Amino acid sequence: MFNFSEIADRAVAGTPASADEALSILRSDDSQLLDLVAAAGRVRRHHFGMKIKVNYLVNLKSGLCPEDCGYCSQRLGSDTEILKYSWLKGDEARRQAEFGLAGGASRVCLVASGRGPSNRDVERVAGMTEDIKANNPDVEICACLGILKNGQAERLRDAGVDAYNHNLNTAKSHYEDICSTHTWDERAETVSRAHEAGMSPCSGLIVGMKETDEQIVEAVESLRELGSDSIPVNFLIPFEGTPLEGVNYLTPTQCLRILCAVRLMCPDKELRMAGGREMHLKTLQPMALHVVNSLFLGDYLTSEGQAAEDDLDMIVDGGFEIVGQDDARALRDRLRAHRKAHAEAMGGNTDDAPAAEAPATLPCGKSAPPAGASAGDGSVTVPTIRRRGAGTVLAPNA
Ligand code: SF4
Repeated sequence: MFNFSEIADRAVAGTPASADEALSILRSDDSQLLDLVAAAGRVRRHHFGMKIKVNYLVNLKSGLCPEDCGYCSQRLGSDTEILKYSWLKGDEARRQAEFGLAGGASRVCLVASGRGPSNRDVERVAGMTEDIKANNPDVEICACLGILKNGQAERLRDAGVDAYNHNLNTAKSHYEDICSTHTWDERAETVSRAHEAGMSPCSGLIVGMKETDEQIVEAVESLRELGSDSIPVNFLIPFEGTPLEGVNYLTPTQCLRILCAVRLMCPDKELRMAGGREMHLKTLQPMALHVVNSLFLGDYLTSEGQAAEDDLDMIVDGGFEIVGQDDARALRDRLRAHRKAHAEAMGGNTDDAPAAEAPATLPCGKSAPPAGASAGDGSVTVPTIRRRGAGTVLAPNA
């Protein structure tokens, strides 16, 4: 039996948790959870203090992807009723990015569906990056455009792209079960390509895809070898109409153990609780902030997150600070006052109104699923499809 506190001592001193130690963490008992979070939290505070980095996603191009990643609502043949649209125009991309910046984000992630960008697409994103940075010089831009070809990473770097995201998602030994249209090696190669070009590699995981504990550890070891600077950990959102529809076995405590294992294996890396955190961590989200040091604000690419104000409440209530902000509480209060004034001006509800009133139907005309519909056993299994923000006329959740 490993001692979490001793693992943390070694991690602080520069020796990350071993694969065996990580496995013991993943298999530890719920009764040990607070000791584990305390150990991982000590490592987090050693490297990042009480800071939280807030990231904001702008989905530049949604759906219509020729690849077949089994977890993805944008995949080939998916009949998930997501928003589908081609490239946002440059000024709209900047407008969407600035909503996130006003909500406290210091990094904007420009994301487009597809196997990988054409050179024309790269030029488009290079232009958007220059435009956003001209108006917001302190922003960090992360591009996420798929598999990169020769010269594309260098072009993005030259335009000012700071980081490139391409998630390994899962272990090499599990990848064939997840996707048949490209390989794990191609993913790893793009992460290396971005790194070699001088962009900060951002690469992480999706857990809850029927992988084993050993495969979670294998994937994190690969991220370590590739030198991923930031590690988003996504928890599977089991979209209807995908092969992983209905796969929902993660528990909140297991999600927290996974985050602790990644923190102790990668002590000084930006660790982000990413998509699916609301659905799977549930009421343990605030506790997870003691382990991770990064999150996405508001909505995800094709599904809705909790209200951005709730994200900020969680940060403020936990005594955390936001990277790039002098006062997280003042930011939260300012946004709340702005929302209230906006709601009053619209003649609507003045009680902490959400960013946008979601319509009862999806863009395709079908009925929208209710927020977090229940499977009947009380567990939330049906994600709420995003139908506000980028690609719509409605204000985003930021
Ligand atoms: S994850 Fe990316 S490459 Fe895979 S189906 Fe979705 S949009 Fe396409």
